[in-house]
Order: sequence, then structure tokens, then C-alpha cells
Amino acid sequence: MIAELFGSMVFNDTVMRDRLPKETYRQVQRTIKNGKKLDPAAANIVANAMKDWAVEKGATHFTHWFQPMTGITAEKHDSFIEPAGDGKVIMEFSGKELVQGEPDASSFPSGGLRATFEARGYTAWDPSSYAFIKEDVLCIPTAFCSYSGEALDKKTPLLRSMEAINRQALRVLKLFGNEEVTSVRTTVGPEQEYFLIDKDIYDQRKDLIYTGRTLFGAKPPKGQELEDHYFGVIKPQVQAFMKELHEECWKLGILAKTEHNEVAPSQHELAPIFTTTNIAVDHNQLTMELMQKIAKKHGMVCLLHEKPFAGVNGSGKHNNWSLSTNTGVNLLEPGDTPYENAQFLLFLSAIIKAVDEYQDLLRISVASAGNDHRLGANEAPPAIVSIFIGEELEGILRAIETETPYGSKEKELMKIGVHILPKFPKDTTDRNRTSPFAFTGNRFEFRMLGSSLSLSGPNVVLNTIVAEELGQFADSLEGVSDFQEALDELIKKTIRDHKRILFNGNGYDENWIKEAEGRGLLNLKSTPECLPYFLHEKNVDVFTKQKVLSRAEMESRYEILMEGYCKVINIEALTMIEMGRKEMLPAVSLFSRELADTITSKHKVSPDICCIYEEELLTKVSALLKSAYKKVGILEDAVMNAKEITDVTELGKYYHDKVFISMSELRVVIDELETITAKTYWPYPSYGHLLFGI
Ligand code: ADP
Ligand code: MG
Repeated sequence: MIAELFGSMVFNDTVMRDRLPKETYRQVQRTIKNGKKLDPAAANIVANAMKDWAVEKGATHFTHWFQPMTGITAEKHDSFIEPAGDGKVIMEFSGKELVQGEPDASSFPSGGLRATFEARGYTAWDPSSYAFIKEDVLCIPTAFCSYSGEALDKKTPLLRSMEAINRQALRVLKLFGNEEVTSVRTTVGPEQEYFLIDKDIYDQRKDLIYTGRTLFGAKPPKGQELEDHYFGVIKPQVQAFMKELHEECWKLGILAKTEHNEVAPSQHELAPIFTTTNIAVDHNQLTMELMQKIAKKHGMVCLLHEKPFAGVNGSGKHNNWSLSTNTGVNLLEPGDTPYENAQFLLFLSAIIKAVDEYQDLLRISVASAGNDHRLGANEAPPAIVSIFIGEELEGILRAIETETPYGSKEKELMKIGVHILPKFPKDTTDRNRTSPFAFTGNRFEFRMLGSSLSLSGPNVVLNTIVAEELGQFADSLEGVSDFQEALDELIKKTIRDHKRILFNGNGYDENWIKEAEGRGLLNLKSTPECLPYFLHEKNVDVFTKQKVLSRAEMESRYEILMEGYCKVINIEALTMIEMGRKEMLPAVSLFSRELADTITSKHKVSPDICCIYEEELLTKVSALLKSAYKKVGILEDAVMNAKEITDVTELGKYYHDKVFISMSELRVVIDELETITAKTYWPYPSYGHLLFGI
């Protein structure tokens, strides 16, 4: 059953082998492997086979499916129908339509790129990610560029970064005499967290509808302190949702595997088995889309926001990342021979150096208004980037660096390329959940990503910076007379220069923040604080040198990211103002009138009757109401004044320092009012209602 279902909606290798003439099939294979363009004749054959297959599956339309800078996917549907001349129609799909499309690009963010270059954009087929059918539409994964070739999307730089790391990793492997490897790809397996809440309750909260998170809400008496949700029993409604989600994922060839409840109430996780990075990115976008659609069918809403509820764990997305050769070797798996170990240590060193030198880029790659609520908030990794490699591996690196003996029984000096790494038990490597970047035995787990983020950005950065270091290593090792000696020196030097980035301790600990500062590590707390680092010269250098992004592309991306941040905060602020003015303040005012009326009525009966409850409450409610009223005004002014600022960097800072801070201050007062206002008056469902259904 599952075997039949799996990939049934994907124009994958098996389908191609079945349906394409041998020569065309081979040509497509070459295109996938080397990125060579398919010639027009072959493209026509492939398009036709794709169309026949899709029509048999019930598809009527096709679309170029792409990932603009909005972070969500875009598609424009065209039907296969062509007039046949005799008043009839035929189903057509040409090679040209397969290979290139021209969506109306004007509504997608380009950060000024289109103004400086060309007005239009085009989409180009990414044959390494298979076409698939979604809701009767044949979807062709594509990259989205301007006519002068500037990337307008998240796929183009990702593919370029994969090429970069392939190029540089191959150079390094050659140095080890590794001739049979012809390509290196990066692999990603994401763990996706999300919340499911009842649609009926969701519909009553404007903040959830407009912004994806609650902007107000007092904490319920019970949170996640009992940890009884984690790995707990899954509710039947949720179970039905997960079953359907899995089936729909499988149809699209997504290897959805584990599912379990998460720490917070109503929170869950889905992890697929890892695959090639660009495919993993496409699959994750599809999974998020499916989650939202399928939840609705089950009377629920799937929240992908990083922090839907204050005081309750937010949602992240762990990016498990590794490098794999076409011969099936995982390059981050410590080997059994001195030769494999040396190679492993060189790749490990490159990653350590990359993460240390480009902490800022990694931090930026996960920056968003939503994720600002998580990083450093004692539930997700801190905003400081560091690497966890475990005690054992760190001990080994220390021994190598200091040329001191290692091992508990027979202590020996570790000579790279001569000695085998002492075995370290794998399960001890994954204990520290507070580390932003952890070695987990045969891969790194980048844990700073927020749940709604496209996987593209973080992987573009990872691939690019590691490619850069591998390239530098290859430069210094190529042509040396004594490779073993040079390698040994290089690894020692790298550990010595970059060990400050290694940290095995508790990332939530206050002391770590101080220690990290002492080590000179960056602590970029908010999005507007970190984004400007993107355009620092060393970062422009690495992206341009590795041919992943041009300076113009980087400038445009910077603008899009910062503007995106401002827009999110602006919408949140306006939503708060509207909720406050139209619903909360009037509700509290009515409640205070009831208290006042009660006091008057009671006193009418007898002036001696005790009204202390009503009187004290009325005093308190009225004082808070005044404060809330003032704070709504302050927030409104803050939003108005933003219009005066034209510089995007300054605007981002202003939205953080003024608007966001005013929002937090307003929230405190309203949340306090919620705890003392009678339930019947409160205009929105409470946290208890949202999270526990009560
Ligand atoms: P945990 O919750 O312990 O971190 P999971 O099993 O939930 O682990 O998720 C681990 C993820 O790592 C899975 O998506 C898995 O496919 C992925 N993974 C395993 N090996 C690799 C690899 N070599 N490259 C990339 N991802 C990998
Ligand atoms: Mg994990």
C-alpha cells in the first residue's frame, strides 16, 4: 500500500525510465547530473511524456513552481488546453513551456534589482528536483531570475552554493587520492515543529488570523511544566490529521517518518528522512503547505509561527546537514582507517573554521521577526553561534592541537593520517539540546532555524562558507611535498585559531553569555541588529568569490529582509491597536460599568452593605484601563512616526526599539486586565481555551 502510494504523484526516475525513449532518458540524466541544458528536441519529448503522465493522473493544468523572496512558494496555473482549429481542443505542453516560463514578476519583492536591471523575470526548470502533481496541477520546480540573470528567488543561490561546495570538496578529496568520487552533494533532513489548534477558536482571534501569533494573552495556570505532552498520547483528531499528512507527503515522494508530540501543549513534530539539499528544501515547502491545508480539513489550523504563544515553547526547525559523495560515503562519518579519519578531521576543521569566521552569516540566515522571540529565550539556542562537538571529540582535537597523548588505556600521540581516531560512542554526542550547531555523530544539526523559515537561506550560507574553507585548505595543500605533514599542521593551526567557537556547556546559562563575550563571539540579539552584517566586506567577498550571490543580489536581499521585518512589526502593531481600541478597551469599560452599577445598587439597598470587592476591583481596573488607553496612543504615535524614516537600516532599528517595545508594554497591561476582568466580558478566547480547550 505505502509502496504503491510512495511517489505516485512524482515524475521520478522510474517513471522517466518507463516513459522516455532511452536516448532522451540518458540526456535527462546528464542534465540532472551536470546541469547541462536539455536540447529543444529532447525537451519536447520530456514535456510530452510529462503531460501524458499528468493527464492520466487527472491533471488539467501545469505551473512553474518557484520560491520568490517572500519565503513561500508561488505558482501560476496554465491549462494544457490548446485550440485544435476545428472548435475542439487538444492537450499540449511543449519543451519550451517546460524549460522556461515568464510569470508576472512585478508583485514579488526584488529589493530594487528589477529597477536597476530588467523589469521582467523568468523561471527556469530545475531538473534535479522532480516534477509532481498537486491538486490536479503538474508542478515543475523552477528557479526564478531576472532577464539579466540576477537571482530573484531562494532556489537559484541554493543551487549555486551546492555547485560551490561540490567544486571545493572535490579538490580536497583529490588531495587524499580520491579519484573515483565525481560529485559531492550536501544532504538535509529537517525536523519541523508546528502547533495545531481548533479552527473555531482560531477564528475568534484577530491576532492569529492577521499575524499568525497571539499578540495578547495571559498565561494559563498550567503550561508545559509537567512535560506531560512530550511523547504523550496523540489525540484522535490529530492522529487523523497525521495519517492524511503522511499519505499526502508519500504521494509526493516526501519521506515523512517520525511524528511525535512536542514539549508544549498542542505542539507536534514531523521529520522526513534526509535527502539532497535542494530537494529537501522543496519538500519542506510542500510539507508546510500540506500541513496547513490538511489541518483545515480536520477542523484545525496549523500554526507555523515561531512563537504563537508567549510563555509557551515556540517552534523551530532543526536542519540536519551533511556531505555525501556519489560513491555513497558520508564525509562527516568518522571512519575506521587513519586515512578516513584524516579526511574526516579535515572536513570537521573546515566546518569549525567556517562557523567561527562567519558566525554573523549563520545568525542572519535564521533572522526574522518571529524567530527573535525564540533565540536566546531559554527554549531555543541562544543568539550566540557556537559549536557542540561533544567531550570525546573535543578531547581528541585538544590532544591533536597540543600534541599531548590521548586515550584512557593506552595513551598515545595522535598523528593525523597515521593513527585511528579513538572510538567515541555516538549516543553521547547528542545530549546537548541547547547548542545552536551540534555534531550528532555523522552530521551537524543547525538548530537556530524558526519553524516557518525556508530551509534555503541557512543552507546557502552553510554550503558557501564551508566551500570557502575547503577551497582555502585545497589552496594550501595542493602541491606540498609532504602532504601528511602539511595536513597535520593545517589541522592543528585551524583548531588553535578557531577553538573559541567550540562550546559543550549549557547554552541557556547566563554565564555563557559573559564567557562568549570574553571569547569575542558575536551576540546579535535581534533581526535589525544582525542584518547589517550581511553587507560587511568579508561577507560580500565570500559570496562573490564562491559565485553564489553578486554584490547587487546581496544588497537587494538585505533590503528585502529588513523591509520584511518592518512590515511584520507594522502589521502586528496595527492589529494590536485595532484589537485594543475596538474590543479590549470597550470590554473593560463595560465591565467597570457593571462594577460601578453593582456598587450603586448595593448601596441603594443599604449604605452599610459591604462593596469592598467591587470598589477595589473597580479602582484597579480603572487604573489599568487608563494605562492601556495611554499605551495604545503611544503605540499609535510610534507607528505614525515610522513614516518619516526613509533609510531601511534605520527603519528596522526604529521598528525594533520603538514600535516593538511599545507593543510589549501595551501587552503587559492588557494581559493583566485579562486576569481580573470577568470571563464573560473578555472578547477573545484565552490561552487556556486555545491550548487546552477550556
Ligand atoms: P533527533 O530528534 O534525535 O535530532 P530525528 O531522528 O528526529 O533526530 O531527526 C534526525 C534527522 O536527521 C532526520 O531527518 C534524519 O533523516 C536526518 N539525518 C540523518 N542522517 C543525515 C545526514 N547524513 N544528512 C542529513 N540529515 C541526516
Ligand atoms: Mg534533532
